[in-house]
Order: sequence, then C-alpha cells, then structure tokens
Amino acid sequence: MLRKLLENGCRAPALPTAVRSNVLRIFPTRNVTSDVAQQEDPNFHEMTEFFIENARYYVEERLANRADGPGKRPTPPEQKRQAVKGILDIVKPCNAVLAVNFPVRKDNGAIEVIHAYRAQHSHHRVPCKGGIRYSADVNIDEVQALATLMTFKCAVVDVPFGGAKGGIAINPHHYSDGELERITRRFTVELAKKGFIGPGLDVPAPDMGTGEKEMSWMVDTYDMTLGHGNINAYACVTGKPISRGGIHGRISATGRGVYHGIENFLRSESYCKIIGLSPGLKDKTFIVQGFGNVGLHSCRYLNRFGAKCIGVIERDGSIFNQNGIDPKNLEDYKLQHGTILGFPGAQMTTEDLLEAECDILLPAAGEKQITSKNAHNIKAKIIAEGANGPTTPAADKILKNKNILVIPDLYLNAGGVTVSYFEWLKNLNHVSYGRLTWKYEKESNSHLLGSVAESLKQGFGKDIPVQPTEAFKERIAGASEKDIVHSGLEYTMERSARRIMSVAKEYDLGLDLRTAAYIVSVEKIYGTYVAAGLTF
Ligand code: NAD
Repeated sequence: MLRKLLENGCRAPALPTAVRSNVLRIFPTRNVTSDVAQQEDPNFHEMTEFFIENARYYVEERLANRADGPGKRPTPPEQKRQAVKGILDIVKPCNAVLAVNFPVRKDNGAIEVIHAYRAQHSHHRVPCKGGIRYSADVNIDEVQALATLMTFKCAVVDVPFGGAKGGIAINPHHYSDGELERITRRFTVELAKKGFIGPGLDVPAPDMGTGEKEMSWMVDTYDMTLGHGNINAYACVTGKPISRGGIHGRISATGRGVYHGIENFLRSESYCKIIGLSPGLKDKTFIVQGFGNVGLHSCRYLNRFGAKCIGVIERDGSIFNQNGIDPKNLEDYKLQHGTILGFPGAQMTTEDLLEAECDILLPAAGEKQITSKNAHNIKAKIIAEGANGPTTPAADKILKNKNILVIPDLYLNAGGVTVSYFEWLKNLNHVSYGRLTWKYEKESNSHLLGSVAESLKQGFGKDIPVQPTEAFKERIAGASEKDIVHSGLEYTMERSARRIMSVAKEYDLGLDLRTAAYIVSVEKIYGTYVAAGLTF
C-alpha cells in the first residue's frame, strides 16, 4: 500500500517556512510526500525522507514480527506493531534545527547580515556529526536533508554518531580571508551558545567550500570561549590541521573511501555481470563532476589503482581526453590558474559529459545533478555518488530500469566521517595512533627475524640469511598513524559493502543498493532505540 502511494503520488504537505530568527526550533514530524518520486526538481529534504520511507516499507513488518529477546515477556502483536511504528517515526524528522542571523563587518566598513544554519537530525547516538558548508545556495531545507543523510551514513559504516549538518549562505569566493574568519568565529560562538557544538554534543567537519582553515578557526574559537578549561575541547571539530589536533589522512579520506567503495562492488562478479562490466578497476574509464576535495582525491586513487579519468566537469566548463587526464597535473594546474579550463592535458568541450560514454560516472559536486531530465541519456554503467544527494528519486528509478548500478552516497562518501571518527577518538585519547607501539613493534619484528635466523642456524649448522620480503620491509617499522587510518578505513568500507550486498540479496533488491543501505541503517538505528529501552 505504502509502496503504491510512494510510486503514484499523493498531495505534499506544506513545507515549514524557514526560520529566520535567532531561535532553536523543534520541528514536528512531516509525512513524506510521494510526489518526489516523479518530480524533476524535488525538494531535497523530502527526497531524503522518501528514501527512508522506501526502506521502511521493507523493514517495518519484519521488525514487528521479530521475536522478543530471550527472557522477555512476549508483547501482544498490536502493541509491538505500534512500538515499531513509533520508533520508525522518530528516525525521520530532524530533532533540532538552528537558524541564526548575525552581522559581520566587511573589509570596506559595510555591515552585512549573514544567514547560517545547523540541524541535528538524530540524538540516538551522541555527539551529532556532520559538515559545515559555505555556499550561496545553503538554506534550512538543504541543511536538514544533509543532516538526515548523515544519520544514515554514520549507521551504515558503524560510526556511533547521530547526524547533523550546518551551513552558511555565502559564496566564500566573494569574501576575504579576514571576513571569512570573522564569519566563522561568530558562527562558532552562536553554535556554542545554543548547544550546537561541543565534543559530546555536536562535532562539525569540512564540507563544500570549507576545509582545514575554517575548522582551525572554529576549534580556536570554541577553545577560547565555552571550551576553555575543557581538556577535550579540541574534539569539538574534525578535519583540523595536524598541528591543531587533526589526523593524517583526513583530507583525502572521502576520496579514498570512494575508491574503496567502487572497488568493493567491482570485485563482485555477480554485480559486474548484471551491468555488463568485467570485474576489477583496471582500465575502467570514469568522468568526474566537481574537482574539489572529493572529486580530486577520488580521481587520484582511482587513477593510482588502474582506472582512467577521461573527463572532468566543473562549474565553469568541462575538459575531456579519451587517453586519460592526469589528476596530479590537473590539480597543480587548477591551483595555479584557479580553473581547470585551458589545462594542456585535455581538450575543452561543450558536450554534457554527464551523458558521455564511460564506465563510471562520479558526481562529486552538488545535489540533484542526475534527474528525470538527463537520467535517460546516461551511458555510464556505474553511478558512484561521491556527492550527497546527486540523484533524485525519479532518476534513481530510471537508472535502475536501465540496469545502471548506483553506489549510494550514504555508503560511498562515508570515508570522510569514518576518518573524522578516528580523529575525534584521537583527540579524546590525547595521543596519536601508533605513538605508543611504533618502536615496540619495530623491535619485535627485528627480534622475530633474528630468532628465525638463529633457529635455522641451530637446525642446519650454518648461517642462512633471512631476508624480509619487500612487503614485510615496508611494515617492519610498525604502523604509522596514516597506516592505521588507511587500514581502518579500508576495513570499514569493505565490511559495510558486504553488509549492503547481503541485505540486497536477503530482500531481493537487485541493483537497488540505496534501499539496501538504508535498510541496514534503519535496522541499526532501531536496534539502538530498543537497546536504550524505548520499546514495548
Ligand atoms: P568542494 O567545495 O571542495 O568542491 C566542490 C567542487 O565542485 C568545486 O570545485 C566546485 O567548483 C564544483 N562544483 C560545484 N557545483 C558544480 C556544478 N554544478 N558542476 C560542476 N562542478 C561544480 O566540496 P567537496 O568537499 O568536494 O564536496 C563535494 C560533495 O561531496 C558535496 O556534496 C559534499 O556534501 C560531499 N561530501 C564531502 C565530504 C568531504 O569530506 N569534503 C564528505 C562527504 C560528502
């Protein structure tokens, strides 16, 4: 019934108007509109809710029929159904949304009013976690959509946080560094005053238009104000520079995770067979939209492990080279010229590269880039969602019908939040990974080689040199922080991919990995509520 409604559409309830005052708002539950299943340009927040409802359709009945835990008094079926319904209702709306307006003095003396937001979607786990975006398009709906997505993203990769997201409605390129610093510091104070930042409350990170610089200002402001005297104050933000408590591997973590995510699915012979690709990354061609943090680092890793970047789409134009574009050279060129246009290793093109022939299309810019308007023309075999929300529900359905494998955002770009979690733990532990074991491991490995050599000498009566292999030589010195981060990330992406694949099989979802990933998350979040006693 719900499925029918979702597919055929029902009236959308009116959206809450944006809150433009300096107050905390708790929004009521909204019923998802199924119009989003058909719309060419759906509301982003409703789009996210639609995907949750879709997963709910599959899990609600199963959860209600699940046996009571051992030693529990059996619950009457109707009571249990109501309890499951109640818990699943809780996991949809944003718990708390903050909208603030504050003045900032520009370099020319003018005063501008800045509009900024932060949404905490779920407190089933704390702290809440999610990036801060600087973009002219930021609005309260977008922030809520992204916060919602964060809850499900954290759950799918077993990061024990609730979801959050923040944003400031500015184009950062139109402000000087001094102005950006004043805006960032003032926003941090507003967040701190209202309980929207803190190591155990809510932990922002970089997103579009922000990076280490902004995180550094945020942590400094928090440390000097509300966090003063709190030994854990530096855990209030992740994505910081190393010198300010950051972690090796965070900048490239999302891109590295994107590479691992794609690789995990390309390793599966059955998925490759359905979409008509040979298994493995080698020689696969890809086109990336957005050459920022996620796009660039995804390109680097995909290229390093054998795939070929043949096209890059940026805000101001696109470039193409069937023989391959070198990501490092393009990065250097962009840093020097501020644009990818004119890069000597490729040709500029006016063709819409989203619709060009390639094996993998990697949207790594904004949301709603693949819609019912262009989905029919997409020729890639895999859509790898580096960005958050790049595919609308209507497009998702078209892609499924075309046998295109969509590796969904909540799984694929979760590398960033995974390594942010490692950074947060590092800050709480007050010691970098590997610091205590590095020397001990190195010495243990040398002793191991020594004792093998000694045993051989005793057994054969002569010196037999024991040579470590090249791979062992690389590890003999013990694991650095970067090694630990990389291996933790790889393990996380592999384990989550396996779980998503097994749920897709269990529920007979075919190529619908998005629904599978949401089901994985919904079940985990439900489990947290039940474990907390919020049940029958
Ligand atoms: P970024 O600001 O570093 O880069 C975005 C790039 O996309 C910029 O180069 C910009 O010019 C380009 N761009 C913007 N609109 C475009 C358009 N319409 N067409 C082509 N190019 C366009 O941002 P980012 O951190 O790389 O984030 C990109 C996406 O990935 C966002 O959806 C973000 O929410 C998501 N994401 C980021 C992280 C992270 O760790 N930074 C983690 C998870 C998800």
